[in-house]
Parts: sequence; structure tokens; C-alpha cells
Amino acid sequence: MEISFTRFRVYSECPWKYKLMFVDGKKVPLTPASSLGLSLHRALESFHRSRVNELDKLLDCYEERWIGGGYADEQVKKEHFDKGIKILEKYFKQEQERRTQIEGIEREFIYPLGRHTVRGMIDRMDKHPDGGLEIIDYKTSLDFDEKSPVDRTLQLRFYALGVRESLGVKPSWLTIHYLAAGKREREPYDDSREDELKAAIERAADRIENGDFKPDTAFCPSCDFRRTCTHSTARS
Ligand code: SF4
Repeated sequence: MEISFTRFRVYSECPWKYKLMFVDGKKVPLTPASSLGLSLHRALESFHRSRVNELDKLLDCYEERWIGGGYADEQVKKEHFDKGIKILEKYFKQEQERRTQIEGIEREFIYPLGRHTVRGMIDRMDKHPDGGLEIIDYKTSLDFDEKSPVDRTLQLRFYALGVRESLGVKPSWLTIHYLAAGKREREPYDDSREDELKAAIERAADRIENGDFKPDTAFCPSCDFRRTCTHSTARS
């Protein structure tokens, strides 16, 4: 089977949630936060692909690639649109100080793992003057410390492994760029746990293939399906 980071993460949170989303096809509705996040990702992709380094171009890309769904009314939509402009203005200012070269935008990787295929899409990869590769993931949440450090780096380690396996290059740096806060968390890539991660991905893919969707209720309080799921322990 083919496994992406999203599928791996959802299965690791709760196998039943995986079944609801990827077997039964239930959709997670857009929220203002997720909708704005998608719009910002789309705007940045178009902006960097254009290679036009002007703020007006970035804001044009934002307007063109804006997603209007997920907002309760026009007022809320307008508030979030304006919030997005402020985030992008801050981003553009920071970009002017960049000393790295962009190597990839929405860069896809794919590699075989046992009987399975691992696929992923990296927000951005930069090359440093010393040749080192930096993997960057944009986060649009306003909450800077919303997850534990392990959760925060799991996605980047999944991507670093993907780059190593598909391009044969070991990344030097892993970075989370919190767009709303205008902050970056960067750390050197420690590849000592690659085998452990590979084994975890392969194990998850094996279990999915075997139809093992036993619910894990530890995640219920923050699950998108907590009000409707038959196994939920957090309905109220
Ligand atoms: S509500 Fe709980 S049991 Fe149901 S899918 Fe979500 S995490 Fe799993």
C-alpha cells in the first residue's frame, strides 16, 4: 500500500479514525484556521514558483488562491483574510533577509519500503551557502507551543527520511516556520532514529493492509469525529 505522512499520523493517533477518513471517506470539515492555513500554503507555493520577489505579487497570489470555505459568515471570512495579509507581509519582510537558495517548493518524494510505497510533499527545501539542505514546514497555527517537541519533529523526520531515501542526500537542518508568529524553530537533523521510524511506518502500513482498525480512545478529546464516532469517549 501507499502511505503518506498524513495517513501515518492519523493511523498512529487512532486506527479507527484512519478507517473513518481513508476507508469510509468521511471528510474533516474546514474550519477558519484550517481554511486560512490552506490559503497561505497555496499563496506561498504560487509566489515562490513565480520567482517575482515583490510584496504585491505575494498578495496577488494570496487573493488568487484564497479558499472561501469554512467560515461562518462574511465578517469572519474578512477578518481571516486580513489576518492572512498581515502574516504574509511579515513573511515577505523576513524573506528579504534570507541567505539560502530555494531548492524546492511543494517537493514530492516517493520511495519503496518493504512491500509498500512511502510518499510525501515537503513545503520547502533550501540550500545553505555551505551546501547543507534545510527542510522547512510551514505552520499556520497561532499557538506556538501546541504540541510536544516529539510531535513537532515527527513530520520533519518523516520528510528527512524521504529525502534521504529518494534523493540519497542527508538533510542538515529541520525547520518549522510558524508563519503567524513569524518564528522559526530550527534544529540539526539527527538521523540516528531513521531505522526506528522506517520500522514504525512499515508496521503501520502492514496493519492498515490487514484491516487492523482497533480504536485508540486516548485521542478522542481532540478528534474531529468525537461527536459522531461510535467509539468516542468524548461526545459531550
Ligand atoms: S472519536 Fe476517538 S475512537 Fe473515534 S475516531 Fe476519534 S479518536 Fe478514534
